[in-house]
Amino acid sequence: MSKDWNRRTKLVHEGSRRSQYGEMAEAIFLTQGFVYPTAEAAEARFLGIEGDEFIYARYGNPTTRSFEERIAALEGTEDAFATASGMAAVNGALVSMLRAGDHVVSARALFGSCLYILEEVLGRFGVEVTFVDGADLDQWRTAMRPGVTKAVFFESMSNPALELVDIRAVCDIAHAAGALVVVDNVFATPIFSRAVELGADVVVYSTTKHIDGQGRALGGVVCGTRDYIRKVLEPYMKHTGGSMSPFTSWIMLNGMVTLDLRCRAMAESALRVAQALEGDARLASVIFPGLASHPQHGLAVAQMGSGGTMIAFDIKGGKEAAFRFMNALEIVRISNNLGDAKSIATHPATTTHQRLPDTQKVLLGITPGLIRLSIGLEDADDLIADLKRGLDAV
Ligand SMILES: *Cc1c(COP(=O)(O)O)cnc(C)c1O
Repeated sequence: MSKDWNRRTKLVHEGSRRSQYGEMAEAIFLTQGFVYPTAEAAEARFLGIEGDEFIYARYGNPTTRSFEERIAALEGTEDAFATASGMAAVNGALVSMLRAGDHVVSARALFGSCLYILEEVLGRFGVEVTFVDGADLDQWRTAMRPGVTKAVFFESMSNPALELVDIRAVCDIAHAAGALVVVDNVFATPIFSRAVELGADVVVYSTTKHIDGQGRALGGVVCGTRDYIRKVLEPYMKHTGGSMSPFTSWIMLNGMVTLDLRCRAMAESALRVAQALEGDARLASVIFPGLASHPQHGLAVAQMGSGGTMIAFDIKGGKEAAFRFMNALEIVRISNNLGDAKSIATHPATTTHQRLPDTQKVLLGITPGLIRLSIGLEDADDLIADLKRGLDAV
C-alpha cells in the first residue's frame, strides 16, 4: 500500500484485500484452487502469476498473500513467502539456495531443529558446515572461504542463553566473502531486531511465536528480495509442499495487528522482572540483554533498543531446585513455546536441549539449573510475585 506509512500503520492495514462484500475484517479464502474464465486465461495464468492471480493454494492464496505482504512491509523486504512452520521456513531458505560443494558458516547456538538441518541434512547432500561462536567475530572471519561459502546462518538472539550476534559486523564479513546471510530473527522479534536494515539478505521467522502470540497455530515465513523469494525459494517451496495454510495465514495476519504493542509491553515487563530477579541470593545468574550486567548490553541497546521479551536465569541447586521452582509457579506455565501472551518457563536441559551431549550443553550455557522465561502480557507485579513464590520453594 503506502510506502509513507509508519510500521504501526502497516501492521494494521498492509496487504488487506476486500471481496465484493466490503468486509471490514479480512476474509479467509479456504480454497485449494481457482476458476479461470476461459482456457486462454488458464494458459496465461500458468505462464506467470503476478499480483492477485492465483493457481493453486500450494503456490499461493489470497489470505496467505495478504499475510506475506504485511510481513514484507514490516521487514522492509520486497517480498515474503509463508510456510507451514518455522522449520519449513529455515529448511526452505537454506536448501533452496545451496547445492553440493557449497560451504555454510553457522553460529553454534541454534534451535535444536535448525541444528538438525545444518548438521544432518545439509551434510547428506554434500554441503559442508562450519560452526562458530556467534559472538566471536574472529571465528566468523576465519571460517569464511571466499567464493565457496555461499550462506551464513545465525539466530540474532540465541536460544536459550540470549547471546546476541552483531548483525552488521557478521553481514560485512559474509558479504566480503560473497556469501548470503540468513538470519533466524525469532527470539529477538521483528519489532526489535531490524536485521535487513543491518545487512541481512534473508530473514526467517517461526510465526508460531510472537507473530501469532497466542499459541494457536504453527507457521513460518521467509522474507527477502523479490528475485530470491520468487526465483529461488518459491519454486522449491511450491513443489515440495511446505506452504502455509490459509486458515493459519488469517491467524497470523490478525496476530500482526497487535505485534508491536505486544512486543513492547512484554519487553517492558521483561526488564522489570529481570531487575527484580537480579541479585536474588537463590540465583547464580540472571541473563537479560537489557540489564547492564549482560556482557553484550551495549550491542543490545544499539542493535535492538531493548532487551527483548526473554530472560534466562540459573537457579542454585541444579535440576532439583529448578523443578521445585517450576512446580510452585501459579501464573507462569511450564511449556516450551515462547512469545506467547501467557508467560512460559522452560527447563532447556531436560526438554528443548535434552538430546545435546553434555559438552555441547556446557558450550551453550545450558546448566542443570537454567530456566528460560518467556514474558507474556500479564501484569508485571503479578509475574514478579509468582517468580518469587517459585524461588521460595527452592
Ligand atoms: C520455534 C523456533 C523455530 C521453529 O519454528 P516452528 O514454528 O516450531 O517450526 C526455529 N527457530 C527458532 C529460534 C525458534 O524459536
